[in-house]
Amino acid sequence: MTPTAKIIDGVALSKQLREDVAKRTAALKARGVTPGLAVVLVGENQASQVYVRNKVKACSDAGLHSVLEKYEAAMTEAELLARVDALNNDPSIHGILVQLPLPAHIDAHKVIEAISPAKDVDGFHVASAGALMVGQPGFWPCTPYGCMKMLESIGYDLRGKHAVVIGRSNIVGKPMALMLLQKNATVTVCHSATADLKAMTLQADVIVAAVGKRNVLTADMVKPGTVVLDVGMNRDDAGKLCGDVDFAGVSAVASHITPVPGGVGPMTITMLLVNTIEAAEREAGVHP
Ligand code: NAP
Repeated sequence: MTPTAKIIDGVALSKQLREDVAKRTAALKARGVTPGLAVVLVGENQASQVYVRNKVKACSDAGLHSVLEKYEAAMTEAELLARVDALNNDPSIHGILVQLPLPAHIDAHKVIEAISPAKDVDGFHVASAGALMVGQPGFWPCTPYGCMKMLESIGYDLRGKHAVVIGRSNIVGKPMALMLLQKNATVTVCHSATADLKAMTLQADVIVAAVGKRNVLTADMVKPGTVVLDVGMNRDDAGKLCGDVDFAGVSAVASHITPVPGGVGPMTITMLLVNTIEAAEREAGVHP
């Protein structure tokens, strides 16, 4: 099959958006405010170590101040809650991110709820989720927010379009559906109990795949001209990073597609920077 879909390049779009963050950071610094992000990592999860390193590096590249707090897996829930409280009250920190997953003895929900909503740059706090639900200002979770920016980058008007989201997690699928709805799409949310996934995706103008399984979306499930965003992060048989979408097959049918790697992944970190600069601007009273 001949690939016809245009690639939505998350690296190139991230570069543009990060340049804007760097400008806004410089403007805040000129007013005496250095935007700061605290990233808290508990335990030795290998993937988490890479994620937090990338987040901290992206911050410093854009001129933001960032602090990486690493703790042993044996840290107690009370100790972590005390750290979150200290960061809530630290005026040099505008955004707090507690890297998930946390060790099993710590209640992740309790920890996320302890973060001040004003510093919840991951957008996982119930207050942030509620704000998104009712269309009030608040921090949007970075991955679906990045997907919205990708649609915006191709000038895609969601009004009246049918968007199908595959996956209903609190961090990707559900907020994704709400963001698409807010932009006037008609939204269908699919999940592991969906009876006929293909029947749903064949009706879609936009598909967001956020499952975590290879080849969840294949060419026969996509009508010509569909925009396909691939959030999934999986490994293929050769151990290479791949998404949920059969990229080669779907590229021959879709109008636009995001690659893995180089698609939604870089956008997630970019939107973390965007949320952090916004938190600092709000705190400084300069955000509209
Ligand atoms: P998750 O919490 O495991 O949720 C997966 C969702 O997929 C669930 O809602 C599940 O349904 C649904 N599902 C599972 N099998 C299905 C099937 N056969 N057909 C339809 N739906 C199915 O995962 P997540 O945190 O949302 O992440 C999803 C993927 O995105 C993962 O690969 C993750 O690594 C990746 N991710 C990437 C980024 C990035 O920056 N690129 C960020 C976050 C996540 P049920 O609810 O019924 O179980």
